[in-house]
Amino acid sequence: FFIAFEGIDGSGKSTQVKLLTDQLTAAGHKVYVTCEPSEGPIGKMIRDIFTHKMEADHKTIAGLFVADRLDHLLNKRDGILKKLEEGYTVLTDRYYFSSYAYQSPYMDLNWVIEANSLSADLLRPDLNIYIDIPAEISVDRLRKGRSSTELYETLENLQNVRNKYFEVMELLKDEEKVMVTDGNRPPELIAEEIWKKISKEFIE
Ligand code: C5P
Repeated sequence: FFIAFEGIDGSGKSTQVKLLTDQLTAAGHKVYVTCEPSEGPIGKMIRDIFTHKMEADHKTIAGLFVADRLDHLLNKRDGILKKLEEGYTVLTDRYYFSSYAYQSPYMDLNWVIEANSLSADLLRPDLNIYIDIPAEISVDRLRKGRSSTELYETLENLQNVRNKYFEVMELLKDEEKVMVTDGNRPPELIAEEIWKKISKEFIE
């Protein structure tokens, strides 16, 4: 099965991806962990833009994410579809919900959804896990932690991104499976809630 982790910056996605990987591995699953922007050439280009090594307009970035996601899925070497075929459980840190939330201020939301339907038609997550934190906590965590060189990390932007996530989760509630979990709690508690859901739905 295929699980996508979503949330604003600093929501604790990577911690939860790690904790779920440990749980799944202990339960005997082969786990493949991946992320977006991907490690492929288009993902690398996006990272270079975010770290100001290259310059591109937000509309261009939205297009790059569409292409990166297709490459992430279809790449013959280590694409998600190939990994699933090989029997891996795949966990991704971000997928198309990130585009709906982060790219839609610059592009019409319907365009973003339509452009990403190329990916959605290939593979919808069996579960999207949205880890929710308020934008204030996000900014706090980012200040304390890693450097904020990325393009979207101001309080107002993060608030908008969070609002977009909720808007689009509501809009797509009939076609997408989503679990919302409160990210403003100790990581172990969040992991426990996620594991309950995963083991109930996908194990055995
Ligand atoms: O998950 P992580 O915090 O590493 O994401 C890196 C950055 O990439 C985010 O801060 C976000 O600004 C950006 N991003 C984006 N659109 C996506 C995925 C990520 O703008 N679809």
